[in-house]
Parts: sequence; C-alpha cells; structure tokens
Amino acid sequence: MELITILNRCHRFRGFVYHQARFTSDHKSIEISVRPRKRSPAICSRCHQPAPGYDQLPERRFEFIPLWGFFVFLLYAMRRVDCRRCGAVVVEEVPWGDGKRTLTRAYMLFLARWARRLSWKETAEAFRTSWEKVFDAVEHVVTWGLEHRVLGQIDAIGVDEIQYAKGHKYLTLVYQIDIGITRLLWIGKERTIESFQGFFTAMGKDVISKIVFVCSDMWEPYLKLIRENCSEALHILDRFHIVANMNKALDQVRSEETGRMKREGRAPVLKKSRWLLLRHSENLGDEQHFRLRDLLRYNLKTVRAYLLKEAFQQLWEYSSPAWAGKFLDEWCRQTMRSRIEPMKKIARSLRNHRELILNYFRAQKLLSSGVVEGLNNKAKVTMRKSYGFRTYRVLELALYHSLGKLPEPESTHDFF
Ligand SMILES: [Zn+2]
Repeated sequence: MELITILNRCHRFRGFVYHQARFTSDHKSIEISVRPRKRSPAICSRCHQPAPGYDQLPERRFEFIPLWGFFVFLLYAMRRVDCRRCGAVVVEEVPWGDGKRTLTRAYMLFLARWARRLSWKETAEAFRTSWEKVFDAVEHVVTWGLEHRVLGQIDAIGVDEIQYAKGHKYLTLVYQIDIGITRLLWIGKERTIESFQGFFTAMGKDVISKIVFVCSDMWEPYLKLIRENCSEALHILDRFHIVANMNKALDQVRSEETGRMKREGRAPVLKKSRWLLLRHSENLGDEQHFRLRDLLRYNLKTVRAYLLKEAFQQLWEYSSPAWAGKFLDEWCRQTMRSRIEPMKKIARSLRNHRELILNYFRAQKLLSSGVVEGLNNKAKVTMRKSYGFRTYRVLELALYHSLGKLPEPESTHDFF
C-alpha cells in the first residue's frame, strides 16, 4: 500500500491530485507533491469562485501531520488567477491550507486538539515542532471557532475577574452558566468599565436582552453596567465573593489584633491561627479542632469576628427569600453592634446589596455561583500550565480554547 493511497483515503480534495511521495535526501522528511487536476480551474481566494489562470508561483511546502517520526510536507505551486469578478490577479485558494500559514489545516487542528490536553510546550516537544507553530495552530482553530460559534439563547451569565500577572493585571471573564451548557463567552483585557462594556457590544442587543440571570460580585461599576444593559435580568450576587470578602475582613481583624497584642506584651495566642479561622470548621482535622476550641475561649475581637462569619454560613441553608432576608437583617444588626470595623463594613455592604443577595434565593439556588467558581478554577489551571509567554494574546487564546466549547473547523478525517 502506498502513502498516496492512504492520503487519498483521509485527505482528498476535489480538483487536486497527489502526484508523488519521496524522502528528502536526509531521510528525515517525506515530501508529497500535489498538482491541480486536469481541466480543474483554480478558485479565486477573494471571491471563492473559479477564475481563469494567470501564472504559477514557486513551489511551497505545507507541513502535514508527521508520520512515524518523519516530517511530512505537501509540495504545491500555487496558481494565480486573473479574476474578472475581483478585477485583480489573485492567488488561488487551496482547501488544505490558508494563504499565510505554512501548516496545513489538518495539522493545525491536530496540534490544537493536543494543545488542549497538554501544555503548548509539551505539545511542541511531542511532535518535534516549535511553540510558535502550536500557537499558530491554536490561533487558527480558536479564530475559526469564534467566527462560527452559535450564541443562541443565553439564560444566565456569570461575571468574574482573574489575575493573570503581577501588578493588578486582571482579565474579566464572562461565562454562560445555563443548566445545560457552561462555557466561556468572552474575555476582556483589564478590569475596567470600558472592557466590560465590550462584552455587551460583542454579544449584541438581541442576545443580551434575553438574559434572565446575571451572577457577579459586588464591584459597583459592574453592577451599574449590568443594570443598564440587562434591566430585565435577575441579578444575583456571587456567593463565593461574599464568603471571600468576609474571610478578608476576618483576616484583617486577626492581623490587627495580633499586632496589638504583641505591642501590649500579651501571650501570642493568635499565632498560626490564620488557616484555623479561615477554613470551614467542617474541614478541620482533630488536632486543629482542639486548637480552635481552645482559641474560642478567649474574649478576642478575632474570635467574635470568626463567630459572626461562621453564623453567616447559615444564610445559604434557607430556601425562602423572606426567611433568608430576616436572617440577613438580624445578622447585619448584630454585626453593626460588634464594634469590629472590618466586619461592620461587610454588614453595610450586605445591607446595600440586600435585594441582589436575596435574588439568589429567588432563583431557587439553581444558579449557584459555584458554577462560576468551578469555571474560574479551570481558567486558573489553564493559565498555570506553561504557555511559554504570558502575554495577553496567549492567555486569551488558551482560555477560549479550553473553556469556550468552540466548534472546530470541519476536517476530511479524524486524525486525532
Ligand atoms: Zn475573485
């Protein structure tokens, strides 16, 4: 069986024939020459219609999927057409590649699929190619996917941000969090109002106006934009962010108090208590439980703040918005009397966003923002994998590639 027989089986294109396959002189690569089928006119790459030939360019090498450790190249001399429709001499369109890249579409899809499972660096090493070529492949597949994806009806979105480099470099991520489909919809560079506005523009009024639920944290500019753009949607404050803010407040109380006790020369009972206090009490081991119980006997601000935080967890157990509201009001009342400023700040903020928090219960907890948290964790894993260069463009591609559930270019055969 010949190589050309196999190629005709899995990578055959109308209008072209495989002519000959041979080794290069160093026996490291296989080159297969491709020719236009007789009487098969070239297709203009601008208007995609057949057009009369004009001349032929020098032979080009298109890199194909390597075979048994050999590099494989298709050799083809592109024709130029004198297209009357376009009124210009234009290079022809070839179905296995595009005008700019040296990789065939099949190889790009192949590399991109591996690059979803391995890091880009590992993919490049596994197929003895360069990181840049993997980048090209992913870029091609993601660009195609974004152009061809169907947004359809989007019921629920979650908005979050993620730090991608030191020095307050944030990305804004918007996910679709419908029951049946969760995917990354949009990435905004930086966490700004302008960047977030870009999401509403990109999705279009038609899609945006039909959104029913929005989950987001309490960053005021986001809330404002969501109110403006999705006035009909039920806005749900992100449970995860409320808990995270409360942990931050508790941590602040603890570190202030630790400092004060040290200055006053008191026993360092709060030493190494950080994780004890920040972790869910159910997640503590036996020894940690004893230490926590010990700690709770002290009349410390930190202890009182911890108890307030733990008491707050009960909120999520409610199913009726009315009872949840009563609980929330009571918790805020107690906290405002606590004389613990960071916790009072939380209570004030919760009071200001009372309705948004209760929307969580109105949505019957269906859209717990745990979904957003899960997606964000996946995003962080994607970022952590080594991508060679931590530029915005690389991250954008990697995130869309792994979380966007984008459609893939059609291929004549599943090589992978
Ligand atoms: Zn044309």
